[in-house]
Amino acid sequence: MRVLSALAPQSELMAVVKADGYGHGAVPVAHAAVAAGAGSLGVATIPEAIALRDGGVTAPILAWLSTSGYAAAIARDVRLGVNSERQLAAIASAAREVGRPVEVHVKVDTGLSRNGVVEAELPDVLRQLGRLRAEGAVRVHGLFSHLSHADVPEHPQNSLQLERLLAARAAFDRHGIPVEQMHLGNSGTALARPDLHLDALRPGLAMYGYTPFEQPDASLVPAMTLRAPLALMKRVRAGDGVSYGHTWIAERDTTLGLVPLGYADGVPRIMSGRFDVAIGDRRYPSVGRVCMDQFVVDLGPDAAGVSEGDEVVLFGPAQGWRPNAREWAHAAGTIPWEILTSIGSRVPRSYLPAR
Ligand SMILES: *Cc1c(COP(=O)(O)O)cnc(C)c1O
Repeated sequence: MRVLSALAPQSELMAVVKADGYGHGAVPVAHAAVAAGAGSLGVATIPEAIALRDGGVTAPILAWLSTSGYAAAIARDVRLGVNSERQLAAIASAAREVGRPVEVHVKVDTGLSRNGVVEAELPDVLRQLGRLRAEGAVRVHGLFSHLSHADVPEHPQNSLQLERLLAARAAFDRHGIPVEQMHLGNSGTALARPDLHLDALRPGLAMYGYTPFEQPDASLVPAMTLRAPLALMKRVRAGDGVSYGHTWIAERDTTLGLVPLGYADGVPRIMSGRFDVAIGDRRYPSVGRVCMDQFVVDLGPDAAGVSEGDEVVLFGPAQGWRPNAREWAHAAGTIPWEILTSIGSRVPRSYLPAR
């Protein structure tokens, strides 16, 4: 958060803690982010927002993707994203039911073609907002959109989407609807497009210490280290098959190590035999299939210096030799966002004091 606020000193940082804080634990991450200067929090769903309130988070929260449960959100002071006339009507009637106005951020679709009010529908939404503001059911706080090419900073689509957001803003002005906060960018924007920073940014990935770009960024340090104790060591003979289907056969007598994490914990099965772990200051290859709860590594014939109970690091801050989530993403044919958000709920999270 400190790195990002130095890059975007004029913008509020809305720390994105959806998907259980990208797998790190939404409530502890939210408290840490607010302590480090975040002005608000962003989540996708209303249950995510309510879990933050239950966890004692008092900062403003925006939930931008919801289909029901509006009354509970309004009662807990959660701002809601508005994506259509129909949804706005449902949110407004929930506000009447609760007996207090709802604060909304109107999302406009500026070219991602995903969530957000489409251009043709915006005039109707604005007229409806005018009526609901007069009635006192709705307060407009924000206007926002989301980029399709934030990870390709120089792509012309980014500037085009800004232009369309500004056009939407002009339409709000013509309807006499003030907008307090305009936001468009996420991590990639925070790091590489200062001209798109606007009033607020919604960083997710970068806050957890990963750049959205292929090029490493030394200013970002991965927050998460995934580790497990080495559960068991055993000798196998040349020719012995390892794990389901014997997709790996020992070519020589060797020592295997068992790591008690599997695909149910977020170790992608597709990475079977295609990743290393770190024990001490050395890397060892995984061998055979990743199973639901465990996988096996080849410690070599003499397993020098390794003992049962040793800490196995699956990924974490690189420090030259350790794997990180970007390396995993390459091995699994995915992106670091999916690696982090896939860490399973039975993996206990523990938290270190901020440095
Ligand atoms: C997930 C999300 C973000 C965060 O994106 P990062 O690339 O992780 O920084 C920001 N805004 C919206 C609307 C999102 O859905």
